[in-house]
Formats: sequence, structure tokens, C-alpha cells
Amino acid sequence: MGRYTGPACRLCRRQAMKLFLKGDRCYMAKCPIETGRPVPGVHGQRRSKLSAYGVQLREKQRLRRMFGMQERQFRVFFERALRTRGVTGEKLLQSLELRLDSLVYRLGFAPSRRAARQMVNHGHIAVNGRKNTIPSRVLKAGDKIQVRERKPGREYAARFMDSAESRGLAAWLQLKKDLFEGEVLHVPTREEIAPTVDEQLIVELYSK
Ligand code: SF4
Repeated sequence: MGRYTGPACRLCRRQAMKLFLKGDRCYMAKCPIETGRPVPGVHGQRRSKLSAYGVQLREKQRLRRMFGMQERQFRVFFERALRTRGVTGEKLLQSLELRLDSLVYRLGFAPSRRAARQMVNHGHIAVNGRKNTIPSRVLKAGDKIQVRERKPGREYAARFMDSAESRGLAAWLQLKKDLFEGEVLHVPTREEIAPTVDEQLIVELYSK
């Protein structure tokens, strides 16, 4: 299945929760989830009760959509988490949060993860001083992310850093606005990630 290119808000409406796919608009009252727009589709409002499998599937779709990943890549992240020592669900969340595109978004260099991915793809981001064009790269504590010293990238990032900062920067990240640089201070704990999904349901789904 190809990459979804339709309206982002439709995905949130389908999952009946905010997935924060559109930047500032997601924090406004006109967000369709805030205004109570129904699940899309002719039968959207006539949803029957979900089975246990349906609940697990919905949870997985929520997390996958939130990070804008395709099924195969999401599965790769899960398999990696499974092989890592520790609690699988927590490891999965940590590796998703530590993806380069997610960090670019969290630091406020881009308004959404989708836009952050594009920024990385277009060569505007450097990791530890070297240009990096792989959005799915998983970073570690101590790694530094910088918007490269090129006018388009810096001008673009400058447009969003203030609003991202006003919403509050994650405690596990540090931002030096004047240098357009951020750092991963430590790997976030589950509490710091505070996911809006139940990752345990995803583990159960993939463990069948
Ligand atoms: Fe649209 Fe953002 Fe609201 Fe989702 S959270 S429905 S992407 S405005």
C-alpha cells in the first residue's frame, strides 16, 4: 500500500483522536476533532462496538499514523524493540521519539512530523555536524541536531521555533535557538513521552 496523501485531518477523524499532523492548526479551536466532526465515511457515525482485535488494531494505527509511517517500516521498528532488552512497548515508543524527523518536529524546526521529514530529505538538517538525509535514523543521548547554515532551512525553522517553544520543550531535549541547534539530553522515559496510546495493546497485536 502506498503512502497516504489525502487530507491529514481525515486520519485524525478516522482514529477519533488528535494525531497532531498539521502544526499550529492542531492547537486551535477549529481543529475538526475539537469541533466534533464525525468519523469520515457514509457509515462513520454508525460504528459498532470494536472487538478486542479491533481495539488493538486501532491503537497500532493511531501510533503509526501519528509518526506518519508505513506498515512495513513500523513493523521493523517493533521487531527492533522486541529484540532490545527491556519493556518492548516502551522501547518502541522511545525509538519512535528518537527518530530524526520526530526530533526535528519536537525541537520546533518544522510544524509537523511530515514537514520535518521533508526538511531532512531536502538536506537542511545536520546530525553532530554532518548533513543527514535519513528521517528514520534513530538518535541517541548526546546527539546534536542542527538546521544547516543555509538561508532557506533557517528561515523556515525560524517561523516555527517560537510557537513550538511556547507550547513547552520536552525535558529530555535542549534547544539553543540562536544556533538553530538541539540536543538529546537523555533517552526519554515512558512518563516523559506520555503517549496518548496504549502501547501494550500494540505489543499484544503483534504477538499473536
Ligand atoms: Fe487536523 Fe491537527 Fe486536528 Fe488532526 S489534530 S484533526 S491534523 S487539526
